[in-house]
Amino acid sequence: MTGLSEKQLASLRKKLDRREAELSAELASINNEAMEASAHLPPLEAGDTVDQADARTHETIRDGEALRDALELRRIADARERMRNGRYGRCIDCDTQIPRERLEVQPSSERCVPCQRLYEAHHPA
Ligand SMILES: [Zn+2]
Repeated sequence: MTGLSEKQLASLRKKLDRREAELSAELASINNEAMEASAHLPPLEAGDTVDQADARTHETIRDGEALRDALELRRIADARERMRNGRYGRCIDCDTQIPRERLEVQPSSERCVPCQRLYEAHHPA
């Protein structure tokens, strides 16, 4: 028992699909941009120009976004897996039912709020 009706599950699954499509598109565009940027980057010579330093800063920010997107995609895949084995909607740490409002906001949630707080306290981003 997940505590969620079939209908609720179906609607959450749809949300996961939508979010996944969004993230994949975002990742693809980040990758495209990265390819283009590196194609236009002048070969590295001794002594960085301001432009090159700028490009590098931009790249770091973009990598951060790509990493976040990739992590969320991973969580979505995990959520799907939990849907398949009937564990979706339960906290992976303490096994309590995750409030539906929380799942509606973030369908890939894997922990209840107290456990998530605890987790984040021990795993600072
Ligand atoms: Zn918990």
